[in-house]
Amino acid sequence: MKIETIAIHEGNKTDSSDRAVIQPITLSTTFERGLDGSYPGGHVYTRASNPNRSSLENVVAKLEGGADAAAFSSGNAAGSAVFQSLEPGSHVIAPEDMYHGLRNLLKQVYAGILEFDFVDMSDIAGVGSLIKSNTRLIWIETPSNPLLKISDIREICKIAQAHDILVCCDNTFATPVFQRPLDLGANIVMHSSTKYMGGHSDVLGGVLITKEVDPFWQKVRDVQSLSGAVPSPFDCYMTVRGIKTLPYRMRGHAENAKKIAAFLNNHQAVEAVFYPGLTDHKMHEVAAVQMSDFGGMMSFTIKGTGAQALEVAGNLQVFTQATSLGGVESLVEHRASVEGPGTKTPENLIRISVGLENVDDLIDDLDQALSRL
Ligand SMILES: *Cc1c(COP(=O)(O)O)cnc(C)c1O
Repeated sequence: MKIETIAIHEGNKTDSSDRAVIQPITLSTTFERGLDGSYPGGHVYTRASNPNRSSLENVVAKLEGGADAAAFSSGNAAGSAVFQSLEPGSHVIAPEDMYHGLRNLLKQVYAGILEFDFVDMSDIAGVGSLIKSNTRLIWIETPSNPLLKISDIREICKIAQAHDILVCCDNTFATPVFQRPLDLGANIVMHSSTKYMGGHSDVLGGVLITKEVDPFWQKVRDVQSLSGAVPSPFDCYMTVRGIKTLPYRMRGHAENAKKIAAFLNNHQAVEAVFYPGLTDHKMHEVAAVQMSDFGGMMSFTIKGTGAQALEVAGNLQVFTQATSLGGVESLVEHRASVEGPGTKTPENLIRISVGLENVDDLIDDLDQALSRL
């Protein structure tokens, strides 16, 4: 089946006698055993599994073309489950511009447990030169945050496979609508479902999808059910509900983003635009091969200071100045001040999550805020 059909039907298991068209929310934490002591409903206890979580896991596995998926209470919990499933002392290669929450997780929580190096993932030779005998995982995030850098998934997976190293790809920005890392050689895909999958900025979550059910995946499943950072049945319901419109929303986000990128690229107050769909983007060629479209995220630098960038963000009327991304409403953010001291993000950089409002209103809004500079 095609992606639109999968998105609508694969997360909706209805077998109840009341003929509800939409799967109800199963709040029960525990499930009744049969006469022989078995569990005829397929569930035992909600930390281990729940009907709503199973439906969410089923739909995201199918969307990414994976064998199985595991849902977590946040994107960071999903990422953490991958790190926790590695043997202590394992070496991890991660992007220098890794999502800062996951980067801080590695540096603050996994210090002393795992070894890690942060590298420019667009430099394939540089990645290869960091591989050691204990390297177990290469983490990819493409497009990356906030500079929308592109990593060549296929090339990195080739190097990893030659050394028997797992590759996990954070696919939050692209979504399976535009990019399927498992088809390009990755072992695991990670999403913050808080973003495009949920799509309405009202539910936190994370998912992992695996290409194969292997011993590493069994370990991930153990971390999920034993550590227990699982989403509630209501959270799963909300995420499944969001996913139904994901393919159509993504088309709208990408269409609006393309027009906004072109507008910003020609604006006299703008220094540079970072959007992989622009032909002058450094890695546009790679993006065009591994992505079917370029998504709704972009950033740009203004010809001005950090204070002026903050002013532009504050003067926008239709865009809301807030962190996060992937909702139907457009958001704007001055990343350097969010990421804090030590960030490599340029002070004059503004990141936008292009929403589904009419693109002319978004362009007018950007124009009035930039013209005040
Ligand atoms: C938001 C985000 C995360 C973390 O997800 P949470 O749901 O906030 O825990 C990880 N990676 C990327 C690319 C993100 O945008």
